[in-house]
Amino acid sequence: MNIVIFGAPGSGKGTQSDKLIAEYGLYHISTGELLREHIARGTHLGEVADSYISRGLLIPDELMIDVLSDLFKQHPEHIASGVIFDGFPRTIAQAEALAEMLKEHGTEVHAVVGLDVDEDELIRRMLDRGKQSGRSDDKLDTIRKRLDVYHKQTAPLKEYYLNKGCFHNIDGNRPIDDIFSSIRTELAPHKDK
Ligand code: AMP
Repeated sequence: MNIVIFGAPGSGKGTQSDKLIAEYGLYHISTGELLREHIARGTHLGEVADSYISRGLLIPDELMIDVLSDLFKQHPEHIASGVIFDGFPRTIAQAEALAEMLKEHGTEVHAVVGLDVDEDELIRRMLDRGKQSGRSDDKLDTIRKRLDVYHKQTAPLKEYYLNKGCFHNIDGNRPIDDIFSSIRTELAPHKDK
């Protein structure tokens, strides 16, 4: 089973991914985490990524797709085990590239879990996270920019996946365990894929 966990920054994608991994044993691909690791290691990719992340912008599609394609080439076993994609795709171009890459491995996106959270709550959560994470992009100006980028570039994916018939909308304003319980119910029909 391949799942995309989808939602605005601060919607709880990472938190719910952790719970999904524990439940279904999926391999976790978080592009945000992957890029932050490169920044911490001081790689060339990290340097390029940081120049976008710190401004609240998306890394260009071509680069992001290459990173993912390399990961699949190096570790085809991850795809075989089923993947939870967290923070990818973030644009229609990335979604199309993902479909193509998965097709090459004889598989597809089975379900997209969309976490729907009110804007005030998103900002509150990210400011709160910023106090502990020290993330350069969890400060108010950058948060506003990231939300703007989300609405313009990423939100259209909801329509894209709705048209494909695999989008599951989840009210993400509730307590963590209530949200997860709804996700489990929605994913139950996909469990044996
Ligand atoms: P996240 O941890 O998913 O919130 O990602 C943090 C930042 O990493 C984003 O604001 C983007 O700058 C960058 N990033 C992560 N995933 C992607 C992606 N799929 N496409 C472009 N940029 C990304």
